[in-house]
Amino acid sequence: MDGLGEKREVRGFNRATQAIRQTGSSSKPLTVIVPALSEKLITPISTYEDNLTTFIDYNGESYSPTNYNDYLGKITVRRAVESSQNIPFVKMMEELTPETSIEYLKRMGISTLNEKDENLALSLGGLDKGISPLEMAGAYSAIANDGMYVEPTFYTKITSHLGEERLKTKPKTRRICSSEVAYITKQLLTEPVVGSYGTATYCAIPGMQVAAKTGTTNEDYDRWLCGFTDYYTAVTWFGFDWSEPIRYQSKNPAGVIWANVMKRIHKNLQNRDFSEVKSVVAQKICKKSLKAANQGCTDTYTEYFLKGTVPTVCAMHPGNVSPKKIEGKKEKKTKESIQNETDNRKEEVTPEPEITVPEQEPEKQPVVIQEEQSTENTMPEEKKKEDELSEENNQESEENVLEETIENIEMKNEI
Ligand SMILES: [Zn+2]
Repeated sequence: MDGLGEKREVRGFNRATQAIRQTGSSSKPLTVIVPALSEKLITPISTYEDNLTTFIDYNGESYSPTNYNDYLGKITVRRAVESSQNIPFVKMMEELTPETSIEYLKRMGISTLNEKDENLALSLGGLDKGISPLEMAGAYSAIANDGMYVEPTFYTKITSHLGEERLKTKPKTRRICSSEVAYITKQLLTEPVVGSYGTATYCAIPGMQVAAKTGTTNEDYDRWLCGFTDYYTAVTWFGFDWSEPIRYQSKNPAGVIWANVMKRIHKNLQNRDFSEVKSVVAQKICKKSLKAANQGCTDTYTEYFLKGTVPTVCAMHPGNVSPKKIEGKKEKKTKESIQNETDNRKEEVTPEPEITVPEQEPEKQPVVIQEEQSTENTMPEEKKKEDELSEENNQESEENVLEETIENIEMKNEI
């Protein structure tokens, strides 16, 4: 397959499954957010100094990453996610360590990292080789799927001409993080869409909660948009097979494609937010002190925490909110949240024998979108290394990867 234009090959190079590309910021949720939340190194209100910093990297060399935009000084993790500030992510990676990050990434089905990726640039998606769009979609869908990874497959079943079932796919599943960590990550990833300084505001879908993260690599060779709703996960990559900058009307063309496809897919679906996880604490936070809001706090918003990580009560403003009451505050219960309820032990990423795949899972199908796609899909390389780490439920699931052809989707400048 030759990318844009006439199709001249059968079973040619498949950019969804075979293109191993730099991911830039699109991998920040995978390399940093999920592992650091799981390890309880951060909460959404942890603050980091966003300023020009020279780090000493793991090979002993100095590392001076830069932001794409202004340095903002002391900011929260949520704010760092909103406009993808680089420096706080490198600082989080310093605390997390690249080794731990890579352990998580392997569980998420990322198979193309190696020992050369054990450095701080991992936090910003500066990788030795890169990650394929398919593996990015598999990893993002694990977050969308409440922390449960389902190995991407390309068919559900094969039947004979008489309708007899001959083959049925049984994708491997494993937990990559707790449902609580997944929910908090989802809430953080809404920020690029709804935040005033968001990098993916054009990905908003009316009536749906949307999580989305952009990615741009050095010299603009690669542009990404990775995101999901409670229905679908989709990943788009836009670039050349060789190193050539992508400039498209000062927009992220991967994001434009993502938004056009996802808006259409969701057109007739019922409005839906991310399914709540009742064991996550939804706490009103004072924006001034970044503590739990007291009665006298006027500028507040709701933030999400793992149990035991809620901040103390604001002392800057008056009131009588008891610190003891804070952790008792719960999200409103929903059918899904009750089903997903887990206790604190599940925050560790250890195999859990009682894992069940949530009922709504078949609806959350990762969608890999690329510029043009052959109808003869090339099967991805079999993933094997991480198998012994995981409990493989081998549950029957209709979870599969839909490879969507977007040839006919015009790129409207509606953003
Ligand atoms: Zn306050």
